[in-house]
Amino acid sequence: MITRADVDALSRLGSDQWPIVSLILRVDKERIDDDYTIRLKNLLRDAADTLDDRFDPPQRKAVLEDLERIREFFRDEGDRFGRGVAVFAASKAGIWQVYELPRDVDSEIVIGFEAHVAPLIKILEQLEPFVTCLISRDNARLFYGRLGNFEELEQIVDVDVPGQHEQGGWSQARYERHVDEHARAHFKRVADELFHIFEEQPFRWLILGGPDEVAAAFLEHLHPYVRERHAGTVRVLMEANINEVHEESCKIIRRWLREEKERAIEILRNEVGGGDQGVAGLEPTLMALQQGQILTLLVDDSYQAPGAVCLNCRSVQREGGTGQQCIFCGGPLQALDNVVPEIVTGAFRQGANLLFMTDPELQDAMRDLGRIGAILRFSLKSQSEA
Ligand SMILES: [Zn+2]
Repeated sequence: MITRADVDALSRLGSDQWPIVSLILRVDKERIDDDYTIRLKNLLRDAADTLDDRFDPPQRKAVLEDLERIREFFRDEGDRFGRGVAVFAASKAGIWQVYELPRDVDSEIVIGFEAHVAPLIKILEQLEPFVTCLISRDNARLFYGRLGNFEELEQIVDVDVPGQHEQGGWSQARYERHVDEHARAHFKRVADELFHIFEEQPFRWLILGGPDEVAAAFLEHLHPYVRERHAGTVRVLMEANINEVHEESCKIIRRWLREEKERAIEILRNEVGGGDQGVAGLEPTLMALQQGQILTLLVDDSYQAPGAVCLNCRSVQREGGTGQQCIFCGGPLQALDNVVPEIVTGAFRQGANLLFMTDPELQDAMRDLGRIGAILRFSLKSQSEA
């Protein structure tokens, strides 16, 4: 499965001389009514038909060869994919990269001098890892996964066998103290293991499973780095099957992501209204992008806007058509029906946090903010005063 580091490397992948074919393909084997080979055939045909005069004859020939290579690749190896696939090909530049993707991707093919990574940036939240820990006073089960896939790592049992400690001879108070000590030792052991996992394979969220009072007691044993990742507690039994644990964990993650987006919209609204670290609407967002100011980009996932991109400095511009010059560097512009993917990619390259509003309610909330906006790294006022 593709990782954030892969997407980061792809966002810097380019070739001056040879166009890169970027293919995103949904290969959903669970839907038998939906044959991906037909979708692939249509995409490859459309791509070949629309090779325009952006490319010279040798470049066009190279693209047609890559389209054929992609066709043969899926003919021979397509069976090993079951969800989504991304292929980046510019064989003449030595580029041929294939990645597995989650299921929910829109199929498309784009040809240009950079890899088309905006769709991959959009699915990054599905790739963020989390750990789920089912916890009781003498047992624990640890899982590691993402919204798309999930596995059980280990079980930690610290059963305190009654009778071994001559329970009969103990006072009730002494026995209860003993049980508490035993649970504390167990919590400490599981907490150490979680910190060990965190160091080996950092995760963004921790989800606990178990009774509230047990989860609350266990939380106190966690290393602060791990504890601050606690996103919620699920009510599943220690014996629950892995699918149930995954499903309940995903509910917590989705709620967390939604709340993060709601908070960001609120912050943006305040900063645009009375503060000075927010911009709303296409034009101001483009300006913030050009100045490298974007801390968090918020965008209605269905928003599209025409514009142009500079083939030299990659700046995105509201005005300008193919053949005109970039207002920043004088390089050649290319007109695009939709510049939002360029904005997304540009913000990602600058290390911005990206929030896509896919939920209709959140999209509505973005409407009076121009459907696109940014929380900035530093204040507009301090800049204009400087
Ligand atoms: Zn330029």
